[in-house]
Formats: sequence, structure tokens, C-alpha cells
Amino acid sequence: MKTIKVRDKEFSISITAEKIQKTVSKIAEKINNDLHGKVPLFIVVLNGAFIFAADLFKKINIDCEVTFVKLSSYVGTQTTSTVRELIGLDEAIKGRSVVIIEDIIDTGITMDHTIKKLKHFKAADVKIATLLFKPDAFQKHFKIDYIGMEIPNDFIVGYGLDYDGFARNYPDIYKIVGN
Ligand code: 5GP
Ligand code: MG
Repeated sequence: MKTIKVRDKEFSISITAEKIQKTVSKIAEKINNDLHGKVPLFIVVLNGAFIFAADLFKKINIDCEVTFVKLSSYVGTQTTSTVRELIGLDEAIKGRSVVIIEDIIDTGITMDHTIKKLKHFKAADVKIATLLFKPDAFQKHFKIDYIGMEIPNDFIVGYGLDYDGFARNYPDIYKIVGN
């Protein structure tokens, strides 16, 4: 079994690059069919989704645009409150068909926050695409339009996903050995 060491932890192969590429193609095909003529704007949530977004975007064959956002976390003036702002969104969203691109939806808290922020911009339609989804960890209720794969509640790295900033560069996805 192929394993890698990232910092202090060991990971074993979980999803091969080949399987990932097939999954990305399926998502692209659905988006091409669903959003033909709508000139969607893809909003990529950095950092994790950058590799998925690049592969997906190459397989999209309809008129579209892409932009990138980041969620900045910082401690507010209240000692315990954390304020997260969506940064980097310069495009006009109003009246547009938007697709949010995420690497993984786990608890759903990040995406829930992103959706709420985007509502202020009055998009005509907001769809969500995620490569990976952990149904056992999900705590929210929003609809996910495009799910590449459902996975168990294990910590994974590779293909954009990091452990402590590392391992984003692997073309395969690995899951943690033990815990
Ligand atoms: P959520 O807010 O849905 O719980 O988590 C979303 C974010 O947490 C993802 O965008 C990702 O950055 C990170 N995350 C969730 N699960 C994993 C995982 O298994 N591995 C890594 N590397 N990051 C994860
Ligand atoms: Mg992410």
C-alpha cells in the first residue's frame, strides 16, 4: 500500500489520481449541460480548491468566467468572537448564475458562511460544486448541487488539501493512518 509521511503523520492512498480525474469529468459534464447559455461565474474558495478548480475549469466547454475568494479569519474586538470575511470578490454578481467551487464539504460551516456572504450580492442563482463530501460530518441543510464523491469521516490530504500547509501537491488523495 502506497503511504506518505507528512510532517509527523502517516497517510495511505485513498483515491487515485485516475479516479479523481474521472470524477472531475463527470461534474464538468453535468455543469456543461445544466448551465449552457447561462454564462456562469465560478467562484473558487481558496486555498484548498485551487487544483480541483483548475482541472474542472479545463473541462468546462460553455461560456463562463472564474474568480477566486478567500475567507479571512481574524479575532474581532470581542475576545472570543471570530469574524470571517469573504475577500477578493471584485466581480459584479447581481443577476448572475454563480457556481461556488469547494474542495471538500465537511461540517458545512465554511460553505454556509460563504453562501450567506454571497446572498448580499444578489446572484440570480447560486449552485454549489464540491469534489468531496463527508455526509457523516455534515451539520447544515443547504443543497449541494454537484458532489464528486462521498467519503468517510477521515482526515485526508493531497490534490489541494493540506496538513499544516503541506501535501497539497500530491495528485492522489491520502487518508490518515490511525488517528
Ligand atoms: P467545513 O467548514 O465544511 O467543516 O470544512 C471545510 C474546510 O475544512 C475545507 O474547505 C477544508 O479546508 C477543511 N477540511 C475539511 N475536511 C478536511 C480533510 O479531511 N482534510 C483537509 N486537509 N482539510 C479538510
Ligand atoms: Mg476548502
